[in-house]
Amino acid sequence: MIWNRRDFLKTMIASSSLAIGGFQLGQKIDVVIIGAGLSGLYSAMLLEAQGYKVLIVEGNDRIGGRVFTLDHLEGRPEAGGTEIGDNYQRIIKIANQLGVELEEPAPMSANARDTLLHINGKNILMKDWASDAANGLEDKLKKIFPMLLEADFLQKNMPFQSFEDWAKPEFAHLDISYLQFLKSKGLSDEAIRLIDANANINGVEVTSTLHALRSAAMRTMSGSKKTMRVKGGSSRLVEAMSKTIKGDILLGRGVVSINNTKKGVSLTFANGSKVKARFAICTLPFSVLRNINIESETATGLPHVIQAEAIDNLPYIAVSQYYLLPTKPFWKEDGLPPAMWTDTILSRIFAGYNAQGEVNRFTCWANGKEAIRLDKLGEAEAIHLILKELKRIRPSTENSIEVVHTHSWQKNPYSQGAYHQYAPNQITKYIPYLNKPAGNIHFAGEHTNFRFTGMEGAVESAERVVDEIKARTK
Ligand SMILES: Cc1cc2nc3c(=O)[nH]c(=O)nc-3n(C[C@H](O)[C@H](O)[C@H](O)COP(=O)(O)OP(=O)(O)OC[C@H]3O[C@@H](n4cnc5c(N)ncnc54)[C@H](O)[C@@H]3O)c2cc1C
Repeated sequence: MIWNRRDFLKTMIASSSLAIGGFQLGQKIDVVIIGAGLSGLYSAMLLEAQGYKVLIVEGNDRIGGRVFTLDHLEGRPEAGGTEIGDNYQRIIKIANQLGVELEEPAPMSANARDTLLHINGKNILMKDWASDAANGLEDKLKKIFPMLLEADFLQKNMPFQSFEDWAKPEFAHLDISYLQFLKSKGLSDEAIRLIDANANINGVEVTSTLHALRSAAMRTMSGSKKTMRVKGGSSRLVEAMSKTIKGDILLGRGVVSINNTKKGVSLTFANGSKVKARFAICTLPFSVLRNINIESETATGLPHVIQAEAIDNLPYIAVSQYYLLPTKPFWKEDGLPPAMWTDTILSRIFAGYNAQGEVNRFTCWANGKEAIRLDKLGEAEAIHLILKELKRIRPSTENSIEVVHTHSWQKNPYSQGAYHQYAPNQITKYIPYLNKPAGNIHFAGEHTNFRFTGMEGAVESAERVVDEIKARTK
């Protein structure tokens, strides 16, 4: 389903009646924070520590935004932010301060690392990949597994000295289509096709090369040696953060308009109610912000013209997840590895393990074009297609697996995508303006951060935005 402005406002109206919290209209607020995701919650914590009075308004009827543990499902799978690098200094500090435990995932057995490949219509074991007839890669790449092709390519073609280099003017010539870059390095169409199938992007043709290099540099050059997870699920972290906040957090309050006034800001909700504050911190992904009116009584209160263009055009990656539970251990029946990597609409099927190291669940994870295609089918039809494809590829799954939950980040009106992804020519143009305050509105969120991405990027952006407000209120 494609969300248009009318759908968005309808949802806002429906959810605005869920509002909870003890907030009284007319209370004096220094900073109203739009969004109770990581960046909004951390902004509130930092501001309150400095004596500011804050109010958080949140569209969803839960906190956390793109941190979302599906607590009602077997194994509590994560729909959003999960992996915490050991170089996420801020997240680790917050977790330690709040007594939230981080843990390393249990070491994977060789069996768990194994994945069934389904490529060019054929099931292939990883050990047979290099010599299999369905492996259409050029000789020098034949030994590289499809899921590692991109990492191998970017490592060999990495021009940066540091993971922070991606936005430097000397690399502006690489703000070109990733497809063009892959071709210019002589990769075959088959190698490009498999890279495209694996990459966490909407497609190589619509992605900036600098964006792909930045993601690879984050993984390999930012000093991360291992990853951790929040014990009991990532939502435990945002819950602990929210408990420290003294100001109200109003849930189910979708903002539809932000007005820059001479004295501050005024927010309007779908039901017509308003709140006023001296400043606003807007943490909304641009995919959502582009549907919200920003108005101003002052000459400097609207986003810069290029910033407004970025708000309208910054793409967000589509991610759809289908959570599956086995009713029988079909992998024991066919003797193949439980997890799968395919070049079909199924994309990747990750296996989840219980404490005893046994497979007890699966997630079918589709990015970009495949995610959009599944969304367009509608839930029932998409589930039917997934089970049909599974049965075709792997007959032992017939009557042995069921879809118990689906989640589409682009269908949620308060995210409208999973994470931002720069298109060609956007980085050079947008970076200087992306997080500039517009009058009394300041911007935070992972998309406004130029060092770390992901969860660490979100809280790093909170530090910057709080410094901006402190500088204006000295
Ligand atoms: C599938 C997926 C996997 C990920 N995996 C990882 C990972 O392993 N490691 C990692 O570091 N990061 C990961 N991330 C990224 C990480 O989760 C995000 O970068 C981070 O949570 C973003 O925080 P934020 O505060 O910037 O945005 P958000 O969490 O999106 O916060 C914005 C908030 O604004 C609210 N909102 C939106 N519209 C309105 C409105 N009109 N009115 C009021 N409120 C509104 C939203 O509901 C939301 O709560 C992943 C993300 C996804 C989607």
